[in-house]
Amino acid sequence: MQVLKLKLHWQILIALILAIIVGLLVGREVGLFGVTFYALFDFIGKLFLNALKMLIVPLIVSSIIVGVSGLGGSEHLGRLGGKTLAYYATTSFFAILVGLLMANLIQPGVVDGDPKEVFGFSADMTLLEETVGDKDGGDIVEVFLRMIPPNIVAAAAEGQMLGLIFFSLLYGFFITRIPEHQAKMQGDFFAGMFAIMMRITDLIMLLAPIGVFALVAKTVADTGLEAFGPLALFFLTAVLALGTHFLVVLPLLLYFVGRVNPLRHYSAMGAALLTAFSTASSSATLPITMDCVKNNAGVSSRTSSFVLPLGATVNMDGTALYECVAAIFIAQAYGLELTFATQFLIVVLALLTSIGVAGIPAASLVAIAVILGAIGLPLEGIGLILAVDRILDMTRTAVNVFSDSCGAVIIARSEGETGVLQPRTTANRG
Ligand code: ASP
Repeated sequence: MQVLKLKLHWQILIALILAIIVGLLVGREVGLFGVTFYALFDFIGKLFLNALKMLIVPLIVSSIIVGVSGLGGSEHLGRLGGKTLAYYATTSFFAILVGLLMANLIQPGVVDGDPKEVFGFSADMTLLEETVGDKDGGDIVEVFLRMIPPNIVAAAAEGQMLGLIFFSLLYGFFITRIPEHQAKMQGDFFAGMFAIMMRITDLIMLLAPIGVFALVAKTVADTGLEAFGPLALFFLTAVLALGTHFLVVLPLLLYFVGRVNPLRHYSAMGAALLTAFSTASSSATLPITMDCVKNNAGVSSRTSSFVLPLGATVNMDGTALYECVAAIFIAQAYGLELTFATQFLIVVLALLTSIGVAGIPAASLVAIAVILGAIGLPLEGIGLILAVDRILDMTRTAVNVFSDSCGAVIIARSEGETGVLQPRTTANRG
């Protein structure tokens, strides 16, 4: 079949477009033999997501341990770690500035008349509690406390990535500090585990078009393409800001700092970006991100297995940007005076909370709750943005994943890797 010869990202894109059409046509009720298509999409989508999530814990653990132990000691680890953190902090900061600028320019929350009436602050509080409550947000201290988990098995079982990352970093580092025969055995074991995870990823990726189709068809059947009314401007502001970061800031960094062709990188990352968009989870997308960065962009395992798993949890440009736009929008809608100090507080909190936010759908809402609390606004404000959150979640997740991948490319180039995003020669074109 011709369609199977298409590159994976084209297959996924076609699936995504078909899913929008089918989702709109069948809605939640239409079905066959007493089973709704909606239930079928839900089932297949969950299977696909589960398959991806199943890989996250062993993939993060093995890749960080292999990455860190492969660096061979504190000097290299310090250098790569320093560059990685510098990249994360800088790009998240740029992203927040873009968000701040757009929110102040467009002022989506400033309306004629009484904002309370225009936006009709009638947040569905039960829905809100469901979304925010089950994420166990806690306050910002709580988020960072989880970095050092009292029980590593529980952290893995509960998907507390920060704790898992911290433990794996230590584990990998101390492999370089034990007798050679033990170190070799440990290193080989985790390298094998990592290789197996990547092979399973290849298998799951073959099914990505079907998984994406089901996930997107279900989302569209759920939300429809409703008119966003007064939220349209907020939606537009967020999308414009995310688009600016994705299409202007990050490619400029790729071009000037990484000295690579950004267009080539978009094409290399196609499958990962579309999966991120469909799943709204950077953690679930991690296996595919690693596959694309290594196999399509040509970044070494040494760099990608260190930068990407860390980035999937720690580096969230899209999320940081969105937190900033959302907090400012809600503040404007409540008629709050946004002094320099308040905006500064929003920037700092967006930067910090984006580190602790998990790479799962709707996780930002927890961070926005933290920010609203800090600037003295009621949580109800989040109810305002719930209606459009899903589509924006999908968009910001793609930006999160893209920024991680740009980080891997830029850092690989700074480490002297020459094969990154190079044009294929006739000899290797296949
Ligand atoms: N869904 C996002 C992610 O996984 C997190 C968020 O902003 O809600 O990257």
